[in-house]
Amino acid sequence: MSSITIQDRAVAINPTRSCAPIGAMLANYGIHGAITINHGSQGCATYPRHQMARHFREPVEVATTSLTEKTTVYGGKSNLLAALKNIWERFHPTLIMVCSTCLSETIGDDIPGVIDEFLERHPEVTIPILSVKTPSYIGNHTTGFDNFLKEIAGNLPDRRKKKGETNGKINIIPGWVNPGDIRELKHMLREMGLNGLWITDYSETLDGGYYEPRPHFARGGTTVEELRSSSKSLATIALQRYVGGEAARIYERRYGVPAHVLTMPIGLANTDAFVDTLVEITDHVIPEALQVERARLLDALVDTHMFTTGLRVALYGDPDLLEGLVGLVAEMGMTPAYVLTAADTMPWAEHMVELTEELGVESEIILKGDLHELHKRIKARPVDLLIGHSKGKFIADAEGIPLLRVGFPVEDRFGYHRRSIVGYNGSTALVDEITNLVFERRASSIVSNTLVERGVEGPSYVPISLPNGNGKLV
Ligand code: SF4
Repeated sequence: MSSITIQDRAVAINPTRSCAPIGAMLANYGIHGAITINHGSQGCATYPRHQMARHFREPVEVATTSLTEKTTVYGGKSNLLAALKNIWERFHPTLIMVCSTCLSETIGDDIPGVIDEFLERHPEVTIPILSVKTPSYIGNHTTGFDNFLKEIAGNLPDRRKKKGETNGKINIIPGWVNPGDIRELKHMLREMGLNGLWITDYSETLDGGYYEPRPHFARGGTTVEELRSSSKSLATIALQRYVGGEAARIYERRYGVPAHVLTMPIGLANTDAFVDTLVEITDHVIPEALQVERARLLDALVDTHMFTTGLRVALYGDPDLLEGLVGLVAEMGMTPAYVLTAADTMPWAEHMVELTEELGVESEIILKGDLHELHKRIKARPVDLLIGHSKGKFIADAEGIPLLRVGFPVEDRFGYHRRSIVGYNGSTALVDEITNLVFERRASSIVSNTLVERGVEGPSYVPISLPNGNGKLV
């Protein structure tokens, strides 16, 4: 039976979480021409920029109000007013998002009040200016992303909607994914003959090309006009429960746009649920191209099950990513022995217990966990594979366990932001990668589908198939 553990330690050792403003900044990168003002110390802007640049391999621009000792004592209002004016005059953005930080939240700066005062003083400024609460001591990077999505849903869509008026699109909230994932989801919608309205879309802004002259704003991203029309969409699909799920419900409550909140589409069943939802909303049939991709994933699961069934896996990272990955891991016949997140989300943990029991696997679900805790467990009872971001490499190196790098940040590999782990194609790629990692760890060689375990090498143990189909040991 699966169980829930809440890590109870005053400090985190090797945490699996990042800072909340990163999430809001990432989501804002998916809006064309939008600029972030980080209301805090310079470090609160530098750290997120650094983290994002190492993962996405793109220059990441963010403005800061650069609070100092004086503004920490007397308040940062004057700095924020100056920052809003500078950004407006120098860049002419399409939208400004002001995110708070631990510092500005602790000193109690009233960011919405300062924005109102700025707009009163500058009637020429007609763009939306949104404020998002992102203190890192409440939640983590996913909370920042989710909070910004709720701000978008609550403030940007056009409320003047005539009865029955529609833009013919489906709002898709991908959640915290990579640019490659968004492109894969777009491919699926294209194959279905559907128009998606992406809330938000950083598939190009954070994975762009080299252009000369350099565009004023990175190419791509959802426009503010599109976001305004999102209240007229046919439905909203949130592909993560904890990053975007509540925003989808806001669309339903405020604008009557039906909400569908799903598990991240990793693996066969989770991707089927996404495709079935698209069919349910639109009555479109599933095109042959997607049927072929599904069949290919199923074939990969069948072909690899003999190598992966029964293996124990440790997974760590963000709740939504873990939920999707556990589905795939179980489909591959593996046991998600430890599922660890830094989040403190009991409903998620309870759902994971139900899910793992439904899937017939036994897991320890760890809340508020860190990698030190995971390492202790792995030392006591080893696993065959680690799945998570780059910070787990120290466990992988120390214990000689392969690490499948997914999630954020992946900073010690190149191009991982470009690949996809969602949909039928992304899941097939993951199945291949997981199986190859198993081969590398366990086998000295693979001969005719037979895995020759390390330590038993030697020609006398290698089974081969003869051209006539009769197997013979040589
Ligand atoms: S002080 Fe808070 S907001 Fe600033 S970088 Fe650190 S965790 Fe992030």
